[in-house]
Amino acid sequence: MSETLFEQIIAREIPAEIVYETETTLAFRDIGPQAKVHVLVVPKTRYRNLAALAAADPQLLADVVASAEKVAELEGIKESGYRVVFNTDGDAGQTVFHVHAHVLGGEPLSRFGA
Ligand code: C5P
Repeated sequence: MSETLFEQIIAREIPAEIVYETETTLAFRDIGPQAKVHVLVVPKTRYRNLAALAAADPQLLADVVASAEKVAELEGIKESGYRVVFNTDGDAGQTVFHVHAHVLGGEPLSRFGA
């Protein structure tokens, strides 16, 4: 079995509603949406968090960002605006330690806060 939940989704060992895929990334709907549109973009290679990914493979980070923009386009929120969030560790509430971008939008979003 794969190490993390997202590796299991990438390996199609557990189901997810996939909205976009490239050679290096996979995008699927968050199971607990926090906005009308809430899609996760993950690199197919696992890094623990954003900083680890950026340090090890900047091109792969660029691929994740490009996929997030493509998801916004596919979901019809590119023009209205959207947010991309990478949670890192405790206070940010990171629960899956395979770096992922949350793509949020489809409605006005509240400003940052607790
Ligand atoms: O940033 P964080 O690590 O908290 O994000 C993990 C996200 O993965 C959560 O938003 C959670 O709803 C989502 N998730 C999912 N499918 C699962 C388990 C968790 O979309 N099977």
